[in-house]
Amino acid sequence: MENWLIKRAALTPNRVAIQYENKKLTFQEVLEQAIEMAEKIAFVAENDPRIALIMNNTLTGYLAIMALQQLGKTIVFINRRLSADEINYQLSNAGIHTVLTDDNYIQILRVNRQIKFSDLSLRKTIVPVVTFDDNFVTSIMYTSGTTSQPKGVMQTFQNHFYSAMASALNLEIRAEDSWLAVVPIFHISGFSIVMRGLIYGMRVVLQRKFDAHQINNLLVHENITTMSVVPVMLKQLLVDLPSEVNYNKKFRAMLLGGGPTDLLTLQQAKNHRIPVIQSYGMTETASQVVALDSTYAEQKIGSVGKPLFPVRLKIADQTGKNTQQGNIWIQTPTLTIGYLNQPDKLAEKMVDGWFNTEDYGYIDDEGFLFVQGREGDMINSGGENIFPNEVEDIYADYQGLEKIAIIGVLDDKWGSVPVAIVQGKNLQVEQLIQFGRRRIAHYKVPKRFYIADTWHTTASGKTQRNLFLAEIERLKELK
Ligand code: ATP
Ligand code: MG
Repeated sequence: MENWLIKRAALTPNRVAIQYENKKLTFQEVLEQAIEMAEKIAFVAENDPRIALIMNNTLTGYLAIMALQQLGKTIVFINRRLSADEINYQLSNAGIHTVLTDDNYIQILRVNRQIKFSDLSLRKTIVPVVTFDDNFVTSIMYTSGTTSQPKGVMQTFQNHFYSAMASALNLEIRAEDSWLAVVPIFHISGFSIVMRGLIYGMRVVLQRKFDAHQINNLLVHENITTMSVVPVMLKQLLVDLPSEVNYNKKFRAMLLGGGPTDLLTLQQAKNHRIPVIQSYGMTETASQVVALDSTYAEQKIGSVGKPLFPVRLKIADQTGKNTQQGNIWIQTPTLTIGYLNQPDKLAEKMVDGWFNTEDYGYIDDEGFLFVQGREGDMINSGGENIFPNEVEDIYADYQGLEKIAIIGVLDDKWGSVPVAIVQGKNLQVEQLIQFGRRRIAHYKVPKRFYIADTWHTTASGKTQRNLFLAEIERLKELK
């Protein structure tokens, strides 16, 4: 395909491409500024095939992405919130010589050139790439590392193009569309919005920080049509939004994904008339591959929907044999071509062209997918399966409980039993147990509750249950 930015600037030069704070740039302006930045990057790192970016959601960060694509460089996205050690691991894993960072980034990294955006100055004339080739790896993103060491996922232009198409066929594209991006653009959730902006010719409203009040204001007063959120963001928006206030009339999709959402939150969103679209996907599939059409939101509450147009889905055991309930397997043109420097890793997850997501779930008789959790988190207690998500969800409205994680521990009688790690105020073990027993089968109710002083989450906010398991002996039990 022709270079997307050049093509877009030729098709709709005067449409707004990006809005950030009080600035708006058209596609033509983005092209000009991206070339200028590309010339500055070429001056310092012309020969690097891959360049790493460490940035927040800012206009300069957005332009850096555009510039690197003009130069035909592979962008290695680094999560800005990681520690220096974690970042150094990823930089060395990706063979990086040059890192470009936000101006206020202060950690010193083990790399040849660490350059702040504002330190780029001298220029070297460049010729932008003519085509964006289907199989070219334009982005490498590390998985969250919820379950193990993060893996560098290679994403091609074709992956992103199909992903944008799949989303368009589900949500439709309209000339007036604009998508609010407050999810990080160094993750697939945010980067996919940036790519959709280019492909659709759509305005992207970029927000640096998630401030629920400010975001609600934008959604009420500006003609924003779509926003992507992770569950915790939706919860905070709901807390801040007065019940009589509605989002602007054009708002039509709150795309929710990245992790499980409790039913209470979905119900509250419905009460606020927010059109939530639940979705399911991962870094390996270049964002959502399954989504719930809003017309079914109520009827199929809790489901993540049906596979998008180019996506096939099946439930099977670890060997790929069909089952009622089991691992979620996917076939999609958005699937990564592989993990960086781990040539066998993807093949290990593939059987007959199907990708094993290692998530667990089932498809109901009308074809709707329900995700129950990660296969590795499942607890087998006396022959019954327990999913931490289900148990954590029912405690979502327990007064005073702020955080809960369910893990399985060894047990002489049952093989394994669920226990809870909690944080909160005035928690009493008897009440917690009674609360659970009124709502779920007794074998699913945590046998013991432990207090955690520090909460283990990945930089993207997901609970790392395996780290709690490793320290359980040292945690204080709630008596
Ligand atoms: P790692 O692979 O390193 O352990 P990760 O899987 O958390 O990290 P991501 O690619 O960011 O990294 O997250 C994708 C995962 O998030 C999915 O495989 C799934 O487990 C979970 N997930 C995403 N959307 C949903 C959803 N709607 N409901 C339940 N789980 C979801
Ligand atoms: Mg994963």
